[in-house]
This record gives sequence, structure tokens and C-alpha cells, in this order.
Amino acid sequence: MPTIKTRERLSEVRYEIRGELARRARELEAQGRTLIKLNIGNPGAFGFRAPAHLQRAIADHIHDTDPYTHQQGLPAAREAIAAFHRARGVHGATPERVFVGNGVSELIDISLRALLDPGDEVLLPSPDYPLWSAATILNDGRPVYYRCRADAGFLPDPDEIEALVSPRTRAIVLINPNNPTGAVYPRALLERIVAIAAKHRLLLMSDEIYDGILYDGAVFEPLAPLAGDVPCLSFGGLSKVHRACGWRVGWAVLSGDPLASGDYHHAMDLLGALRLCANVPGQFAIEAALHGTDTIGALCAPGGRLYEARRAVIESCAASAHLSLHAPAGALYAFPAVHGPAAIGFDDHAFALELLETEDVLVVPGSSFNLAERNRFRVTLLPEPAQVREVFGRIDRVLERRAVA
Ligand code: PLP
Repeated sequence: MPTIKTRERLSEVRYEIRGELARRARELEAQGRTLIKLNIGNPGAFGFRAPAHLQRAIADHIHDTDPYTHQQGLPAAREAIAAFHRARGVHGATPERVFVGNGVSELIDISLRALLDPGDEVLLPSPDYPLWSAATILNDGRPVYYRCRADAGFLPDPDEIEALVSPRTRAIVLINPNNPTGAVYPRALLERIVAIAAKHRLLLMSDEIYDGILYDGAVFEPLAPLAGDVPCLSFGGLSKVHRACGWRVGWAVLSGDPLASGDYHHAMDLLGALRLCANVPGQFAIEAALHGTDTIGALCAPGGRLYEARRAVIESCAASAHLSLHAPAGALYAFPAVHGPAAIGFDDHAFALELLETEDVLVVPGSSFNLAERNRFRVTLLPEPAQVREVFGRIDRVLERRAVA
């Protein structure tokens, strides 16, 4: 009988990207199996490197990184982030309104902890990036999901969002470009969502960590310039666009009318102070990253590694008798659906386990992203295109067996 009890609400929290299947994968690897692991959006694990000028920025300052910094981050880094947002059209983006964190992950937690009282509601996309649900729950809030349906290009319906607003709603969360679907939200849709936040006095929380990862002419619209006076937290970082997820550098920028956001800034600052500061060496790369040298564009253009991996996914799904795909317009993932005979009685977890056990491929079941349907899975676009094709060959073998069973 254990003497230590864990927090009850943890039973509501899932993070299956690194969960049971990933544990099983490690067991198989320990037995000598070679796996293709497409579960984590971890560029460094697939040979991507942070750009050399970012590495140099850290190396040049390594001797300056011993002390703690201000809880909101190094002044020069915050000024670079503020300038980046001003250049995007975010009026009043100043270093005082920038918070640097140990990745966007930490800032998602802090920003919800600063906002929620028990029972407060947060409007989240379904599917979501599951940290958003987890952090809402662990900060005593209640996730309320608006759907991003495949037949609508994975775009949310603003009428549905508004219908879900209650007296307890505190915030609307957007993930754009989206993980796991790859949807990139058009300006007109974002304007409708801003109007809902303005009408109901809600905080907008826009997770834009994939803002530079765009394919085939997709255009990213940052939310904050459209939000104007409406309080808006915009999240970005070095993990994806700059391929430096191990450095643990993210930021959040608070925009909108300071009178409307009231003490929220101070609450964020206090919670930041309680954890002292973010990892300091990584902060020295921020200025270098935001100084205008685009290093991701070529990877996302025809001939580029991400573009060609995405092409391989699209072509593999098109060639499969069992898969359909809404092609991702941005971010690092594809989110195919299983259809036809293979989909009868389909359970995404059972499928992912079978794929792992019999074909040495690790994917994430779609329902792990707080999605009610159980006919999808997520893969990353990070492997070499040839490996992507190999993976989809193995996926098709499993689905073929299921179709005839
Ligand atoms: N937000 C989204 C949508 C993500 O996909 C991720 C990581 O995959 C994060 C936030 C967390 O990123 P970070 O490495 O900055 O903590």
C-alpha cells in the first residue's frame, strides 16, 4: 500500500506524445530493435541543427551566463522580441510586456496559473496540443473544446466558439499554425475570433510557435496586430523555427490595452519571479534569431527537407487505399485519417501499438490530442523523405491486414 498519494486531478491529465507507447518503444530499443520514432516534434533528433549564428551567440556570451537574469528575461533579448513584434504591427510591444521562459511550455503553465480560479473555463481547440489541456486542468480550470473539423480544413467555426462562451470563460486559446493538424488560420477567421474576445472580455492566447513553418504559399497572420486593444498573449520561441528545442527558450508578449489586462502583467511577473529566471545561455541566442536572417524558409520550399518530407506524406496518403489527408499548410506534422474497411472498429491506440510492435514505427494516436474521433494519427515531417515513404509503406501493411481481417 503506497504511503504517498499523488494529486487527484493528475488522473485527468494525459501527454501521450511521451506516454505509454513511448515507454514501450524504449523497451523495444533496449531489446535491440531499431525504431523510427515520429512521435515528437524534435528537430535535433533528425539531424537538424540550430543555425550557426545562434550557436555562436551563445558561445560568445557563455562567460556572461552565470548570474540569474531578471525574471522576465535578459533586457537585450526582451528588446529584440519587442522589436520583432512591433515590426509585425503590434503597437506598444515593449520589453516590459515580454516574458522569456524555459520554452513556451513553461509560459503556457505560468500564463494559465496567473489567470484561472477554480472552475474557470478556457476555450481550447479540439484537437489541441495537449499541454494546453493539461495546464488548464492542473491550474484548476476546465477545458471547453471548440472543434476544428477536417471537412472545414481543420478551421474552427467562430459561431461555435461564441456559443461555448459562459460566464466562467476566461480565455480563448488558438494554435496557429496548428499542431497537430497543420492548419494555418486566415485573417477573416482571426478577426471574427478577436471580435468574440472583445465582446465577452476574454484574454486571447495565441500559440504561434510554428509561425515561420509554412508551405506552398500559406500566409501566417499574427493575432496580436488584429487584436488591437484586446488583451492578447502571443507565444513564440526558438524550439521549432530555429531548431533549438533543447535550449528551452520561449517567449510570451502581452499586447492590448494595459487597463484591460489590469494586474495580469504583475501576476505573470510574480510567477516568473518565483521560478527566478529562464535558462540564461539560451537567451543569448534570441537577438541573433530575430535579427532577420531567415533560416527556415529554404527548408519549407520545394527541394527543402521539410517540404519534401511533407510531399512524401501527401503522396503516400494519396497512394494508400486506407488513408486520407488534409495537407498541412504549416508546422511540423501531418494528421491523416483512416477510412474504408480498415476503419471499421478502428481504435487509434490499438493501431499505434500494433504499428510499433510489428513494424517498428512510433506514431501518436489522434485521440491523444483531445479529439473525440479515434480514426487518426499524427506523424512528424522531420525524417528524410525516403524514410517517410518507408514509414507509410509499413503503415499500409498494418492497415491492409486490418482491412482483410
Ligand atoms: N506549443 C505547441 C503548439 C507545441 O507543439 C509545442 C511543442 O511541441 C510547444 C508549445 C512547446 O514548445 P517549447 O519547446 O517552446 O516548450
